[in-house]
Amino acid sequence: MIAGAVKQNERYLGDLLSLSANALLRASLSQALTFSLSAVLWCSLAGQSAKADTLIYGGTVLTMADEQAAPFIGYVQIEDNKISAIGPMTEVPTHAQRKIDASGKVIIPGFISGHNHLWQSAFRGIASDQALYGWLGALHWTFGDYFAPGDFYTFTLHGALDQLAHGITTTYNHSQRLGASEQLYLESFDAGVDSGQRFIFSYNANSDADVSQIEPSVEAFLAYVKLKGGPTVLGLSINAVGIYRDNQLFFDREIQVARANDMTVQMHYLEDYANRELEQDRWSRIVQAKAVGKDVSYAHFIHTTDAILKQTAEQGGAMIWNPLSNGRLASGLPAIKDYLQRGIRVGLGVDGAASADIADPFENMRMGLYSLRMQAMDPDVFSPLDILRMHTLGTAAALGVDEQIGSLEVGKLADLLIIDLDQPVTGALFDLPASLVFSASAANIESVMVGGEIRASRLSPLNHDMSQLQAELKDRVRALIARQQKAVTE
Ligand SMILES: [Zn+2]
Repeated sequence: MIAGAVKQNERYLGDLLSLSANALLRASLSQALTFSLSAVLWCSLAGQSAKADTLIYGGTVLTMADEQAAPFIGYVQIEDNKISAIGPMTEVPTHAQRKIDASGKVIIPGFISGHNHLWQSAFRGIASDQALYGWLGALHWTFGDYFAPGDFYTFTLHGALDQLAHGITTTYNHSQRLGASEQLYLESFDAGVDSGQRFIFSYNANSDADVSQIEPSVEAFLAYVKLKGGPTVLGLSINAVGIYRDNQLFFDREIQVARANDMTVQMHYLEDYANRELEQDRWSRIVQAKAVGKDVSYAHFIHTTDAILKQTAEQGGAMIWNPLSNGRLASGLPAIKDYLQRGIRVGLGVDGAASADIADPFENMRMGLYSLRMQAMDPDVFSPLDILRMHTLGTAAALGVDEQIGSLEVGKLADLLIIDLDQPVTGALFDLPASLVFSASAANIESVMVGGEIRASRLSPLNHDMSQLQAELKDRVRALIARQQKAVTE
């Protein structure tokens, strides 16, 4: 496809290249022009290399690694769920148990969503005229008490599979208890495991419990993870909520117990516009609880102050930006460029589907990138490659898992997407990151791979029946509403 596009547009591209200093475009085109030579070499190299479990070859590879800005036509070799080799077609291995021809396709790392509440997949479109607190009132505080056995499981599985189908190979599930018993609540962990999506599970200690109960409940959870977890559990975290209960002791203890158990911390902070001053006043209590540092990320982090940003940068903190959700709830636009310049790690999240009603990293990237450009009235403020890297390697770095995921590099987990920019059609190719961010959608994803296994294709998970799950979800939501209505009228 790339070679074809070059041929068809040779004259136009010649003009474009002479006008543009876009090194990335030039590099990708020169790679494309050598593709036919690579194909010849591919044939002549037979028999030279070691056996591979899976070999994906012939695709245009955009690794997102720090040292690679230009895409190249090449291969990715996978052994034992990890990338064992990657390179141009001139070096392609020849033996593999499974070969996938990705000629004309694009290979990028899977997207990572740094902040989500997967159970919210059942509640899209709810409270469409509300900002954060009105929305919380219509969802959490209306239905939270009426969840039945199986609800958390079904809703979470639905959310995880929908994300997976949209190319999100790793999610950070900022789980919420909604007052449910431990048994019901842990269904959200089980569903994550059963989905096949890689995840970090953020444990929500029961904030109605006594402070002394935090440690035993976390220990019981860790024992549960040992029993029920699997290779897709990438990490464990604490969803710190004590500060929102105005319970400093509880908050302090959440942070202490997280650190004692090598769990990271994430908390909602500085999301709602109307409550921004109250939230800013909470900073001293966050510092008091030592909820700052390399192992802490703040979800949203919009209405910051200079002092908050200074301390966050000094302590190596991170934030997760959720453009779709922040737009939907009218929360605001964080000063992303300033944060990055200060050295704060910034990741992207699609947030729960009840406030970002389509769990789609393509929509999320466009919303984010366009918002920054609209605000700055300057296209140089952020590039397509910047936002692509932010939704992959940048989010992995913000969550502290960039040694395992986020880019296509040897030794990392083989979580990747094979993208077909011809179906649905996206026009000619001038600039690969621009086509991916401006023109592509999740429908262009031919294969979603987690640990080298194809888990979804063309918006459908492969190992689950989504129609059946969707029907069950609707039945469960109807029953949930009926239980709530009955309780209110009684
Ligand atoms: Zn959230």
